[in-house]
Amino acid sequence: MRVGQVAVPYGVCTEPSNVQAGGGACPFRFRCLGCSHFRTDVSYLPELRSHLDRLLADRERVLAATELETWARTEATPSDTEIDKMRALIRRVERHVDDLTSGERDQINEAIKVLRTTRQVVSIGMPTFTTPGDDVRAIGKATS
Ligand code: SF4
Repeated sequence: MRVGQVAVPYGVCTEPSNVQAGGGACPFRFRCLGCSHFRTDVSYLPELRSHLDRLLADRERVLAATELETWARTEATPSDTEIDKMRALIRRVERHVDDLTSGERDQINEAIKVLRTTRQVVSIGMPTFTTPGDDVRAIGKATS
């Protein structure tokens, strides 16, 4: 059975109603890291690392803010769980890369270059459709 995909900031979403809406109708407030519809892979590693850096910076900034009421501070602070999940996901993707031979790594790096270049010119947010066998490329499923 074919399933569609739509881009999210550091991977893709396969949730059917969100895909049908072109990525603008997430039923879960874009909590992709904890969602079984989220897929990522090594080509998103820079975005995954940037997102982790942003979570850590946001946490420090919110904790240092004096103008927030307690409930607002709590809701605005990235949770330890989210940060731990992001760290674990990055490590898992990095481990997959480390397990490759140098030749395989070179091939992956070439493929990543092509993918990342393509993403810069292809409209982000429009659904794409997988073909049988595409799932093997998603090595960083968030919830496993
Ligand atoms: S939280 Fe789940 S359904 Fe929502 S955009 Fe992220 S992957 Fe898709």
